[in-house]
Amino acid sequence: MPQIKQLDRHVAELIAAGEVVERPASVMKELLENALDAGATAVSAEIEKGGLTYLRLTDDGCGIAPDQLPTAFLRHATSKVRTADDLSAIGTLGFRGEALAAISAVSHTDIFSREQGAQEGAQLTVNGGVAGEVRPAGCPEGTTICVRDLFYNTPARMKFMKKDSAEGAAVAGIFTHLALSRPDVSFRLVRDGKEVLHTPGDGKLHSAVYAALGREFAMSLLPARGADSDVTVEGLVTKPLAGAATRGKQIFFVNGRFVKSQLLTAALEEAYKNRLMKGKFPGCVLHIKLPAHLLDANVHPAKTVVKFADERTVFHAVYYTVMAALDGEGKAQAPAPPALPAQEGFRTMTAAEYKATAPKPAEKKPLGSYTVREYTPPQPAAPMTPASPAPRKQEALLPIHDVAPEPGKPFTAPAPGGKTYIITPPVPPEEKIAPVTENPTPMVEKAAPATEKIPVPAEEPVQETILPDGAPWRIVGEVLKTYIVCEDGSDVYLIDKHAAHERLRFDALKARQEPLMSQTLLSPLAVTLTPEGYDAALNDLEELSHFGFTCEDFGDGTLLVREIPADIDIASAADTLNELCDKMALGAADPAAARDTLLHTMACKSAIKAGMTSDETELAVLVEKVRAGQIRYCPHGRPVCQKMTRYDIEKMFKRA
Ligand code: ADP
Ligand code: MG
Repeated sequence: MPQIKQLDRHVAELIAAGEVVERPASVMKELLENALDAGATAVSAEIEKGGLTYLRLTDDGCGIAPDQLPTAFLRHATSKVRTADDLSAIGTLGFRGEALAAISAVSHTDIFSREQGAQEGAQLTVNGGVAGEVRPAGCPEGTTICVRDLFYNTPARMKFMKKDSAEGAAVAGIFTHLALSRPDVSFRLVRDGKEVLHTPGDGKLHSAVYAALGREFAMSLLPARGADSDVTVEGLVTKPLAGAATRGKQIFFVNGRFVKSQLLTAALEEAYKNRLMKGKFPGCVLHIKLPAHLLDANVHPAKTVVKFADERTVFHAVYYTVMAALDGEGKAQAPAPPALPAQEGFRTMTAAEYKATAPKPAEKKPLGSYTVREYTPPQPAAPMTPASPAPRKQEALLPIHDVAPEPGKPFTAPAPGGKTYIITPPVPPEEKIAPVTENPTPMVEKAAPATEKIPVPAEEPVQETILPDGAPWRIVGEVLKTYIVCEDGSDVYLIDKHAAHERLRFDALKARQEPLMSQTLLSPLAVTLTPEGYDAALNDLEELSHFGFTCEDFGDGTLLVREIPADIDIASAADTLNELCDKMALGAADPAAARDTLLHTMACKSAIKAGMTSDETELAVLVEKVRAGQIRYCPHGRPVCQKMTRYDIEKMFKRA
């Protein structure tokens, strides 16, 4: 039997060091964390050959007293934890008291340190874990640690090192994360003689992001801020259009510590649902703060994994904060929150308060409110598409005093300054914009069965119809039978009418839990499906009826369709049904996601199409929704509206 022997101290230390010091990036992380724990306001680092031959960090923190220098390099020597109780409320980044011991065991390490206010500093060299003498040294207040020839005495570990460039990139990655975790500290990194990162340390997260992640990413961000009970969330999230191909720029900090968490990723991505293009991921730099006792940071040696005591609350806090940020895009930011104790820097709202600011999509009322726009009588040379049918003319607009408002029927009302408003009273969503269609088969309109309640939006007083926020856009006309051109001050907007209407339909469908209205066909329609679609349809004819299709099995892969959704055209009914059944067959693990997919189909099919002539009133409704910020992205995440400023246009013509 092989003999059992206790390892000698040196070998045991090397093994322990291997756990803490994996590569140059982990050395940098430990040194940076020490500097931040020491209260540094600026840190400056330099690496050569990926940090393997040379790695230095200088800070302006509290420094270490000369007589304490050797102690700092002992294992389990720390100034940050005294008792077991301290472990449950760790407020510093480091606490294991292992880093300096481990780093110096596998390198040549020099430390220079001078306490704040001290006359002079001291210096100590530790070679492969063996400390020399402490000697006086002239150095600035703070601490400098130089680590040379990392892993010189552990060739096995050296073999695992990647190319210098990869190690250097990993160091820069750690630097970036820590720089973003502390915008109040200036971070500077020089790699092989070249400055690769330098944050200003002005306390603004946006400045740190700009310096560390680049201009383009910084310009794609929206501010986000919210809270739920004890959990606060603050930071920046990407605008939906700036989705990236990877999750590389989803950066989360929990109580100042960079973490990786599926829970946080899921909460973020859930908030972007139906706003982001397929295959794109949102980016963020979000700081989550919660009381230390709700968090176990002591789970993983690398400390990038966290465990939350109350996952639900954390999920909700992130989800609603991001949703509110996306919903508020383009609107004026809320006034600054009341000041809180300086070290917090976060606003604490009650759950009720912030939920009120972050409506869930289902709670939104995309339709059902009055729409108002300024009425300009049509000019002889009105720039509307000549081929479009005559817009509902002035005669059709009833003066307000003559008749009670009728759902869906626009009427005029006098507005201040001798102007006129066109007011459209609310109607149930599906009646709002009927696609212009020519039905090949006559149909009988059928109201929803008596047992089903279609919610009619509550009547709102007419006085409230004059929108307080912003003047209506002037609709210049429609081009390419697809884009609505609008003008607002010195800005020009192009709106994709199909995308806008699709979004409107999708929100309306999603907000309504009841089955869709259907129309009965005079003669039933036989629709042949794919074998998978047919199977799925027979399995759930009831689900189909929720989408407005009443069907029976006709055998041989064919359904007999008796009713179709009220707002789709009979010519596209077979197509829509096919698509719907195929999607049902594909299914999705999550029923809500499956339903969303089906709603996408319905929204797309029932929306006005590009290339279709639309009447001015329809376009006006869409424009107003876009202007009011109620529509931003189509359900597939494509943009609905693009803005061109006067400057953009002048640039095109080389005037600017
Ligand atoms: P830990 O950070 O877990 O306490 P370390 O081995 O990293 O353990 O550091 C040991 C001790 O050395 C720290 O507790 C701290 O008191 C001191 N120290 C290390 N780096 C610095 C620094 N840059 N400035 C001031 N003190 C430091
Ligand atoms: Mg440490």
